[in-house]
Amino acid sequence: MLPPIFQRPLSDLPRVGKKLASLLAKIDLHTQGDLLFHFPLRYEDFRTSSDLDNVPLDTPVTVRGTITMIGNKQSFRRRLNITEALLDDGNGSLRVVWYNQPYLVKNIHVGDQVALSGKVVRDTYGVRMTSPQYERIATQSASVHTGRIVPMYPLTEGITQKQMRFFIQQVLPLISFLPEWLPDSVRQKNQLSPYAQALRQVHFPASFEEQTQARRRLQFDELFITQLGVLQHRAWLQTEPAPALLFQQQPIKNFVATLPFPLTLDQKKSAWEILQDMEKTVPMNRLLQGEVGSGKTVIAVIAAYQAFLSGQQTVLMSPTEILAQQTFQVFRKFFPPQVRVALFTGSVKNTLTDADVVIGTHALIENILPFRKLGLAIIDEQHRFGVAQRKRLRSTGDGSLVPHLLSMTATPIPRSLLLTLYGDLHVSQIRTKPKRGSKVSTQVIGKQGREKLYTFVRSQMEAGRQVFVICPIIEESDVLGVSSAIQVYEEISRNIFSDFRVGLLHGRLRPAEKETVFNDFRTQKIHILVSTSVVEVGIDIPNATVILIYGAERFGLAQLHQLRGRVGRGEHDSHCFLLPETVSEHHKRLKIIESVYDGFRLAEEDLKIRGGGNIYGQQQSGFTAFKIADPYDLPLLETARSAAQDIMALDPKLENFPELKKRAEAWGDAFHAE
Ligand code: ADP
Ligand code: MG
Repeated sequence: MLPPIFQRPLSDLPRVGKKLASLLAKIDLHTQGDLLFHFPLRYEDFRTSSDLDNVPLDTPVTVRGTITMIGNKQSFRRRLNITEALLDDGNGSLRVVWYNQPYLVKNIHVGDQVALSGKVVRDTYGVRMTSPQYERIATQSASVHTGRIVPMYPLTEGITQKQMRFFIQQVLPLISFLPEWLPDSVRQKNQLSPYAQALRQVHFPASFEEQTQARRRLQFDELFITQLGVLQHRAWLQTEPAPALLFQQQPIKNFVATLPFPLTLDQKKSAWEILQDMEKTVPMNRLLQGEVGSGKTVIAVIAAYQAFLSGQQTVLMSPTEILAQQTFQVFRKFFPPQVRVALFTGSVKNTLTDADVVIGTHALIENILPFRKLGLAIIDEQHRFGVAQRKRLRSTGDGSLVPHLLSMTATPIPRSLLLTLYGDLHVSQIRTKPKRGSKVSTQVIGKQGREKLYTFVRSQMEAGRQVFVICPIIEESDVLGVSSAIQVYEEISRNIFSDFRVGLLHGRLRPAEKETVFNDFRTQKIHILVSTSVVEVGIDIPNATVILIYGAERFGLAQLHQLRGRVGRGEHDSHCFLLPETVSEHHKRLKIIESVYDGFRLAEEDLKIRGGGNIYGQQQSGFTAFKIADPYDLPLLETARSAAQDIMALDPKLENFPELKKRAEAWGDAFHAE
């Protein structure tokens, strides 16, 4: 879809060698075009400058001067390197401190003229600026890193904000190769910036108004193209019949009775809804939601059994080869021997023609496969499955019929939002998990409660248990004024629990370091693991019974619910403590989670308070399909939907909008790659 110049490798850029290119690849940045669409997570406003004799405290500011001293030292807990420097501007001087960036002494030297942007705070030794952005003043061009609204990007270890900003600057000229693709009427009616302008301003806005406008245009784009896809999908489904797979109640009941456990109420209800949809000649388009461990697989088994009873095949597509293998085993275990189950992945390709159920990966739709009579397609963990993919999944024998489609997901997107986003979808939910494991109690703790809390946590550790500590950010400078993992780690290991062993885990550590810390926790060499939420701690630690979440108000309720799922996996009762840092209004919202253990209800509560701006950032929304849009932004979603409806009414095949048509097709193709 993009012109070929966008495909140029990153290594063609100045200062990007093999090593950096491979680091960037880790966050899915492979081409120069990818960089252009790597949007800032947030911005720092460093437009205010100050002389050094009267720097304001605790607020973002830019100062300029000469470096008169710089050097590294180690903190007494050996994991922390501290770079200290002095800046002088003729009016006064300022102490500057950076953590864990020892290489800075190679870049900044005594005598350098620099601009520093950051926050000045008072500590026991006077005032200091902590982890500022820096930039040499000597450069002729406009400032990029200081003295302006500075973009802050999602990073990966080994890449700094400064480097990322530099790289993105290099690819901005690509914007001139991008045509406007929104119809003029849509742009005018909804007051949207031109495409090129929005792309430029989202990276380097001159004002926050510009930034807001730019972001709104790009967010609209994603929601609009989704809505268009949904409407096209619906139009298509209305013209395509599916095979009727009869709901034979007695044989199904008999089969369910052979399962090793009774179904929960929610499972029964979901199964019932699905089995009824499958009887119709309108293709089913249903999403089954239930958090991890809620028992979705067995529902898929029952649906496949109904297809089998009607002599039709089922395919089930898993997101990974490992999961496909696992699901394959489960199906084999639950089915009687006369139901033939086959596996089809990148590495295992069983013959399909005589199979009743085929379980596989994406390999299943990469080719047109010789299905005999395909009646049901099941997709595990995928939010959307477009027309193009569905067209590919048809039986070769009886190509006029579309299979019924069941998607399954663990993401607790509220039903109301799903219906707004994907109006053509039916939803079944498993809201209560089958009972197993231990209890997890949850409690919001105010500042006064901390001492008592620490005493309790200590008693748990003395009894041999382990503790997770979660912080919203890695480093103090990432978001001013919020507990950071590094800071909390220091506080806990030095003061609060200095007699226990504490580990620190975050996304900027090298993989080997992460591995070590994590193994130390698993083998109980450390008692407390301080980490950020983004660190994937997928592995079970049944001995961990306490999770403390600092800055809890910075997380959505649904995300807090997922975090507390890290404890309660063993035989011991477990405890989740939420430690908000700001007072009052947040406590009430957080209190909900003390008594509610239903991920969906919590997601709905999140949705209610989204209205006044998105406080969590869209990366927590659970929609991988959106790079910049916040699907919880209902007003913009409605706007996008009505724009898509207008276009569909006017020109459903998009014949008069060639650029838009290209986009819409690319969107359909992109979805299967998720
Ligand atoms: P998910 O929804 O994450 O796909 P699974 O289907 O893998 O969950 O189920 C998780 C575990 O719970 C499996 O071991 C499964 O056998 C078990 N399970 C599913 N339903 C029930 C039930 N009704 N009673 C007891 N255990 C169940
Ligand atoms: Mg599953």
